[in-house]
Amino acid sequence: MSIFVRQDDVRRRNQFGIFMALRRHGPMSRTELSSATGLSASTVTVITNNLIVRGALAADGLGEISETRRGRPQVAVRPRSDHGVIAVLFIGLNIMQIALSDYSGEVFAFGERNPATRHMSAALLGETACAFLRAMLDMHLADRGPLLRISAAVEGIVDADRKTLLSSPVIDLLNVPLGDQLEEAFGVAVEVSNEGNMIAEALHWRAPERYGDNFAAVLLSMGVGMGLYLSGHMFTGVRSSAVEFGHTSFKPDGGLCRCGRRGCIEAYAGTYSLWRSVLGVAESELLDEDPPEDALDVMIARARLGEGAERRAFREAGKAIGTGLSNVFSLFDPIPLVFTGPGVAAMEFMEDSIRESLARACFGQPVPISVLDSYLNYRALIREGCLMRALVFLDQSVPEIGETRERAESAKQTG
Ligand SMILES: [Zn+2]
Repeated sequence: MSIFVRQDDVRRRNQFGIFMALRRHGPMSRTELSSATGLSASTVTVITNNLIVRGALAADGLGEISETRRGRPQVAVRPRSDHGVIAVLFIGLNIMQIALSDYSGEVFAFGERNPATRHMSAALLGETACAFLRAMLDMHLADRGPLLRISAAVEGIVDADRKTLLSSPVIDLLNVPLGDQLEEAFGVAVEVSNEGNMIAEALHWRAPERYGDNFAAVLLSMGVGMGLYLSGHMFTGVRSSAVEFGHTSFKPDGGLCRCGRRGCIEAYAGTYSLWRSVLGVAESELLDEDPPEDALDVMIARARLGEGAERRAFREAGKAIGTGLSNVFSLFDPIPLVFTGPGVAAMEFMEDSIRESLARACFGQPVPISVLDSYLNYRALIREGCLMRALVFLDQSVPEIGETRERAESAKQTG
């Protein structure tokens, strides 16, 4: 390996640093960019000029600031909004959402449909998503530039190449080639991610200082998921999206999980398991019908009235979540937690049992539990995570000075 750093690697890193500063802090003058990135004023000028020529950045006057200052007017640079469009697609059980964003990161169109996904063929799932996206683009694309990339998130396990849905509660089939279907239909690169991972990605973007380099985002919804940020990177597996927190074991031979195994955390803490417990259905059975849309609200309202089946179900869910977290803490040390999803609304009935099972499981030592935040609207986080991943990928693909797009692509893949 060469000990010399190639000059174009340095330029590439500097260029990416400028994009990152603009993505995090919004439009900035070149002077501000210089202090935010630590790059010299002349380097910032050379790089931003190249990016303006490439159509990736735009420069405009800073409005009021330029009028109050003497001398040369201040010019702000920002990612150019009409450089192209990113489509974000979320697929859950019986729900599809699409958000279209311009290159500046602003969402200009949002739509939701509710197709019955579970018994679809793989082809139909892909066709349904494609038809929805085509309709959204026809209606909203206008003169915002070409579609650049599709970033999708699904409930379930995705392969490490981020193309195939290996296993998912969305559809009763394994190995659904969703990414390939979308790529073929639209002719742009597609990345399919696990929903929990995208939540972690969004939180990392929203407040890197607050969440730090190590945290776990726990998703409490129909299923139970987790996104893990470790040492400043989103953790994924060698073969798959991994971190199937909801399907780690709570009670061997316990309640039947919708993954087909028994005793998973989700078989006690997923909304469908809570509903099963409250209905008094044996835990060895899966419900014939999905719980109603408002199942969680109904259970929370009843739990607030006093002791009963709902409180017992939530306590058991807390025990399952606490046991699962103690396993995670044993592997990675206690890391800060962020709870997300509609299940967060029931935290008042789960918190004590979460803390109790955590305390019991770790050698009797008190476990420092740090809960940073709770977010009910987890789908907004998922879409935000998808969008930021796509924008970062596109930013890295913009050729630097004297470079062709092909070389930029290969540099990005090997680097
Ligand atoms: Zn399971």
